Amino acid sequence: MGVVQSWYEGLAPRLREHIAYAYERAPAVRRKMDAAGVHPEQVQSVADLERIPITRKDELASLQREEPPFGGFLGVAPGGLRHVFVSPGPIYDPAGEESFYTGDWARELLRSFGLGPGDLALNTYSYHLVPAGMGLDEFLCSIGLTVVPGGVGNTDVQVQVLRDLGIGLYCGTPSFLMTLLRRAEEMGLDPRRDLRLRAAFLGAEMLPASLRRELEGYGIVPIETYGTADLGLMAVECPAHQGLHLSGDMVIEVVEPGSGRQLPPGQTGEVVATTFNRVYPLVRFGTGDASYLIDEPCPCGRASPRIPRILGRVGEAVKVRGMFLHPHQVREALEGVAGLARYQAAVGRKEHRDELVLRLELAPGAPPPDLESLQARLQSLWRVRVDRVEVLAPGSLPEDARVLVDERSWE
Ligand SMILES: [Zn+2]
Repeated sequence: MGVVQSWYEGLAPRLREHIAYAYERAPAVRRKMDAAGVHPEQVQSVADLERIPITRKDELASLQREEPPFGGFLGVAPGGLRHVFVSPGPIYDPAGEESFYTGDWARELLRSFGLGPGDLALNTYSYHLVPAGMGLDEFLCSIGLTVVPGGVGNTDVQVQVLRDLGIGLYCGTPSFLMTLLRRAEEMGLDPRRDLRLRAAFLGAEMLPASLRRELEGYGIVPIETYGTADLGLMAVECPAHQGLHLSGDMVIEVVEPGSGRQLPPGQTGEVVATTFNRVYPLVRFGTGDASYLIDEPCPCGRASPRIPRILGRVGEAVKVRGMFLHPHQVREALEGVAGLARYQAAVGRKEHRDELVLRLELAPGAPPPDLESLQARLQSLWRVRVDRVEVLAPGSLPEDARVLVDERSWE
């Protein structure tokens, strides 16, 4: 049995109990299940979750407008709430004991990087309205770290804090970390020598491989995380750096956009989660984020499955002759190919048939890649044939050109 299946089986007893709880306590969950003709007893396993329709974020906003303030998703009496967070929309996210729904699984992961009492963290997530800043603060304190509540902005002060206090862990977006490192250099500091940063708990943004290498060059170990305001922390990278381990406190599925059917490991689709959160029992909440489940065991030995990272939004995928192609697949296949400067995959339409064209710009002076073998490799990776390869003059593709474009018109 693969990692994903055995993980799902382990979660099944808690899932059964939780679905019964959510049905009983949260009217919105009950209405959704009743409308689909699903009774809690019919949800015995993760596979059975497919019977329950997915709740989308925009639906959550409209349900909250109809039934303020929480749209029928509150699982406890209002007196049991400690915080209410506000996401754009606005969407109101109730929180009880824990503000960001982190759990022992996440504490264990962070500790495995050697972080604990005696370490100082600079938390640059926002402490206002959204749960990230305060929730992460509580999480770090719960494993004994000392936190500087940096919040957003104040670049110069934050650089000074990094240096003066000898901060070991940065928490925030990758881009703000780069801003701080660059600013430190402008101020005449050498981050490797003058700062004691050794790890970064990163989230809320993509972390491209190039940025990861750059951070490693500064002697900083990147710890990538994935979470959303409504669901909390959902996955965290382990020291093996081969993907993000899934939360032990929710069921995370990857489903086909549209149908909501579960996809087998390795296939990219939408990340959907059912949290075991008593306060805010979201069931099959669609994140709109694209990723896939990894079925192979991680070298670190943890039992939980991994996702490679978030690979973009599900809306960015383009369907070519019945197969979804995602921008990350284009990047992964072509990034680092010797002799290539820029690339773009374009889907057009020719004689009522989809046509997939690969546009390349060759690096000046470099020997050109073997286009035939490249085409064959792409076909096996993407499971759709590249109809044509166009080699363009240098400078034809704009620097910020998207790697995957849909140029079909359906008039
Ligand atoms: Zn691992």
